[in-house]
Order: sequence, then C-alpha cells, then structure tokens
Amino acid sequence: MPRTPSRRTALQGLAAGVAVVGFDPFSRSWATTTTRTTGRTLAGLPPLDGSVHTDDASLAADADDFGHIVHRRPAAVLRPGSVRDVVAMVRFCNEHGVSVAPRGQGHATQGQAQVDGGLVIETTPLASIGPVGPGSTTVTVGAGARWSEVARATLAHGLTPPTFTDYLELSVGGTLSVGGLGGQTHQQGAQVDNVTELQVVTGAGDLVRCSPTRHRDLFHAVLAGLGQCAVIVGATLRLVPAPVTVRHYLLPYDDLRTFLDDQRLLVQEGRFDYVEGQVSADADGAFRGYVIEAVAYGPPVGPAPDDTALLRGLRHDPAGVQTSDLGYYDFLDRLAASVAALKEAGLWAFAHPWLNLLLPGRSAATLAESLLADLTPADLGPGVVLLYPVLRKNLHTPLLRTPDDPVSYLLAVLRTTAPDDTATVDRLLAANRAAYDTVHAAGGTHYPVGSVPFGAADWREHFGPVYRRLATARHTYDPRGILVPGQGVF
Ligand SMILES: Cc1cc2nc3c(=O)[nH]c(=O)nc-3n(C[C@H](O)[C@H](O)[C@H](O)COP(=O)(O)OP(=O)(O)OC[C@H]3O[C@@H](n4cnc5c(N)ncnc54)[C@H](O)[C@@H]3O)c2cc1C
Repeated sequence: MPRTPSRRTALQGLAAGVAVVGFDPFSRSWATTTTRTTGRTLAGLPPLDGSVHTDDASLAADADDFGHIVHRRPAAVLRPGSVRDVVAMVRFCNEHGVSVAPRGQGHATQGQAQVDGGLVIETTPLASIGPVGPGSTTVTVGAGARWSEVARATLAHGLTPPTFTDYLELSVGGTLSVGGLGGQTHQQGAQVDNVTELQVVTGAGDLVRCSPTRHRDLFHAVLAGLGQCAVIVGATLRLVPAPVTVRHYLLPYDDLRTFLDDQRLLVQEGRFDYVEGQVSADADGAFRGYVIEAVAYGPPVGPAPDDTALLRGLRHDPAGVQTSDLGYYDFLDRLAASVAALKEAGLWAFAHPWLNLLLPGRSAATLAESLLADLTPADLGPGVVLLYPVLRKNLHTPLLRTPDDPVSYLLAVLRTTAPDDTATVDRLLAANRAAYDTVHAAGGTHYPVGSVPFGAADWREHFGPVYRRLATARHTYDPRGILVPGQGVF
C-alpha cells in the first residue's frame, strides 16, 4: 500500500512542493515532485490540467478581499484547468484534512473566501457559458463566469437571467453561495431561486449533479449555503425574454414612511420590473433624503412605458423626478462608470465594513429610522445606503434567511473607510454588530455578504429551523469539515 503523507507533510507539500510547478510551467505533475525547500518526496499529489501557485503575489492576493479587513494567508492557490482539477485537489485536501475555500471574484468583505494555511481554489478559469440560442429556457455556466459575461452571452439571443445583483462583476458561484438580491427580486426571486441544476464537488471530492429532483438535499444545502457542503463548479440558470430598452425613474421623497409605503405598494402591485431605493444625507449630515429607483421594461417584454400609469398615486416630489431611457444591458451595468471612478480615486482599495440586514416590513420604518439616526456621513464615507423591499412569497431557497413577514426591506450600509485606520474599522464592525442585534431582536436577519462579527452560535440562530438540515448535509458531504472555514459557520 502506498504510504499516505501525513497532514503536516501534505500541508508542507502545498506550501513548498507546488512552488516547483510555479518555477517549471511545463511540469504539471506533482506525483514524485521533490520540493526545493524541504527536499521531501511527495507521494500521491494529483496530476493537473491547470496549475498550483505558492508565489508571494498569489498568496497575498488571496489573503485579501474587497473588505480589506481580514487577511488569512493560504498555503497554495489552485487555478484549475478543468473541473477534474477541482475534484482531484478537493480529494487530496480531504484525504489530508487541508482546508479549502473556493474564491470567485473575492468581493466578500470579511474573509469569507480566505483560508489560513489551506488551499484557495480560484474559480475564474471555470467560466464556460452555453450553449444558448433563441428560445433557450436555461443556460449552463461555469461557476467562475461573471454575471456581466452571462448577460452578454444570453442577450445576444434576446434572453436574460431574471435577477441581477447591482454590480455585474461578481462570479455566479459567489452570488449563488449567498443569495443574489437585486431590484428584480421582488418579482423574480433571488438568483438562487432561478437555478435549475448545479454541478458541484462535495467536500469528499465527489462530482455530483443536483437539482430539485436529484440529490435534492445537496441542492438545497448548496444554494445560499456559504460553500459549507460543496464547491459549485457549474450552474444551470433560468432564462427569460429580455427587454431591448427600459425606462429608468428616480423618484425623490423627503419622508421615510411615505418612501417605504410607496415602495411596498409598488412591489405588491408589481407595477415596475425593478424597484430599489437609496438614502442620502442632507447638508446637516442627517440621512433623510430618499429616492426610489424604479425601472419598467419596454418591448418585447412589456408595453412601451406609460409615465402617467406608472407613477399614478405615488407621493414623491414630482418636481424632482428624473427619467431616462436606457438599453437593457446599459441599465444592468449602470454601476460600471462609478466603479471605474472609485478605482481611479483609489477608493476601491479602501476598507469596506459593510452592513447588510433584512428588516421585517412590520417594523422597517422604526428600525430604519433609528439605524439611520445613528449613521454619520463620516462613518459611511464615499459609500451609499440602499433600502428596498423584497417579497417573501417569491423567495423559495431555504438557506436564504429572511424575516417572517410578507415584505422585508434590505438595508445595506455600504461603508468605505481608510484601511490603515484600524481603530475606525473596529469601531464600525462593532457598530455593525450592534445594528444586527437590534434588527435581530425585532425579527430581522443578516444578509451574509457584509462584515458583521458572527460566530457559530450566531449562525445556528441565523439558520434556525434549517440549521439541522445544513449540519446534516455538512456531515454527509464534507465529513472532514474542510470547506470554507472563513464563514465561521461550523
Ligand atoms: C461592489 C459590490 C456590489 C455588490 N452588490 C450586490 C447586490 O446587488 N446584491 C447581492 O446580493 N450581493 C451584492 N454583493 C455581494 C456579493 O454578492 C457577495 O459578496 C458575493 O459572494 C461575491 O461574489 P464573489 O464572486 O466575489 O465571491 P467571493 O467573495 O469570492 O466568495 C464569497 C463566498 O462564497 C464562496 N464561494 C465562492 N465561489 C464559490 C463556489 N464556486 N462554490 C462554493 N462557494 C463559493 C467563498 O468561499 C466565500 O465564502 C456586492 C458586492 C460588492 C463588492
């Protein structure tokens, strides 16, 4: 029987042996690699179509994320050349008890895709899309595909996934691991509600197709499952006809309750295809400027938008309304210009201690009022505050936890602050936790993409009635518990 390397040797192998691959791009096999630093012979390392990296730049890049707050350095980074590579490396890590974290675009804000001393699997190379053609009802994509790429490929055939996040440069695997909410969610559900099948590699290293009818327990443990049971390598996404153009409205309000009530009316009636909202500070630094952002799709999906009918009965300030007609993709990608400006100004590299909470509709006004009263422009920085409703009846994914209320409001305080000012970052993290405690006490939930200090007991509480199901799936599919420690769920 071949001798199995110990966990320690395997880790040293990741840390040292793989460097050989980096030095020698023609050497794909680790099978009998002698490491330069330890001189050990590593047995059982799998041959790969892609490559593994241990150079400082690769490790440092994956020890960071969009939050720029948490830094955990992996021992190695896999850039898979195939799904087979993911299977081989997860099996290897499972055998040796090495932790693994898949990483899409690294846009989490609290180290969720980081792994101290383990293996990061960058999913970017797994970015296949298609086939898709006129009349397709679904498209199968690699987990590393970005939503911008999926949209462009499907729009070439007049088709679109029904729901998008505000920012399109996130990976499909990354958003399906958390939920994927946006302005279409009130009608179309979250991105996780629009998946018909997943291809995953379990923590035990098995490649499995799962769906609502096939390995259903795994399907429901992976969607919004924070990577705890399997690495998503492919997803089959629902497609619907796309509009060619849309009409985009900004409707200003000066009263929080009127703003929330009108948003509720709009999502309950389904008058617009997309509804979001923002809160901004006035000259005195008080957050009491409110704007509904609403979008009506044009032909061939809807009729030509009729301003009078769409705005009837709303109580915004009519003098401040802004309307524009946009191509559908330009609307989806509307953040691109601001993101480019933030990058240009160096602000993309600032710390992002984001707060994302779902407020129960029954107490949304009271909660938002008190949370916004505590917010200062300095503590938001050059970020934004989003506040918009989703409807529970259109959210069907068990692990995406929302308040027990027909209408919930996503409150997203997208803070941006200097990364070297750690005292401020720590204070804002504590403020996030206090805000979560207030909202949780009122029946609200954490939308787990932000930076709220959270421990295993919090997660148990968060998942509530579905925690046991998730824990059972974890035990079944990732028996050694190697996947995604950065979420801190188990
Ligand atoms: C600018 C910006 C705008 C955003 N806008 C929205 C929005 O409008 N709506 C919304 O819902 N969210 C939004 N988010 C949050 C975003 O959806 C999540 O942070 C998402 O997880 C990021 O995707 P990613 O590819 O960067 O994932 P990563 O940050 O790389 O990973 C996030 C988590 O998912 C896990 N993971 C990644 N890939 C896989 C995989 N293939 N299989 C299993 N687990 C995996 C990681 O291990 C990690 O735990 C936004 C974030 C940013 C930075």
